[in-house]
Amino acid sequence: MRNKLIAGNWKMNGTKPEIRSLIGGILSRLDPERSAEVMVLPPFPYIPLVQSLLDHTPVLLGGQDLSPHASGAYTGDVSGSMLADWNCGYVLVGHSERRALHGETSAQVAEKFVAAQEAGLQPILCVGETLDEREAGRTREVVGGQIGAVIEAAGINAFSRAVVAYEPVWAIGTGQTATPEQAQEIHAGIRAQLSAEDATIGGRVRILYGGSVKPDNAAELFACEDIDGGLIGGASLKAESFMAIYQAA
Ligand code: PEP
Repeated sequence: MRNKLIAGNWKMNGTKPEIRSLIGGILSRLDPERSAEVMVLPPFPYIPLVQSLLDHTPVLLGGQDLSPHASGAYTGDVSGSMLADWNCGYVLVGHSERRALHGETSAQVAEKFVAAQEAGLQPILCVGETLDEREAGRTREVVGGQIGAVIEAAGINAFSRAVVAYEPVWAIGTGQTATPEQAQEIHAGIRAQLSAEDATIGGRVRILYGGSVKPDNAAELFACEDIDGGLIGGASLKAESFMAIYQAA
């Protein structure tokens, strides 16, 4: 049984007062009867503040990126062990905005995946195709290649301590969500690829869907067999919409 996970990727948004109010709204809407887990992924400077606000609560904390290196002369970068120092248990790797805006390749994403685990963090590996790739019928090949690069670098066993997020690039921040059928097809393909290497690991890994998830489309996405929750961008910035998505899980 895979527990649903609802993770909020705040991207480069927030101020101290906004974050205090957002965390307050999340905590007040948590339901101890529900098994779904909630996670927030704040921008780096706010991680200590969020960590203190989340102390002794079940809400999980993660970073949005990390350096592939452990320490040293890498100005502006943040290591996995720095995130772990602030009680982060998770970190995004390979978000499409990092791949597109920072030119991160699948090989670099795989290095970050390995670095995250070396620091004791669970990577959330983001994969997904662009609109051109989908229209060219290349979705399975592109997503399979992004997953394959990590299997090659880290080995299949590494997926027992990781989460995957399928995020079609054309659905991120556009208001255009994949249909449950489109998402389920790719999620099942990712699970099959991992299961072909190790059936137990493939069966257990959580695969989140991300891309314009909103309170009104979350329930039908989360009802799909291989969709284990969501990676939420825009709708995670308001406690009301984020926690309505949590309730749908
Ligand atoms: C994301 O950035 O991971 C994301 C899914 O964004 P949005 O929900 O805004 O599409």
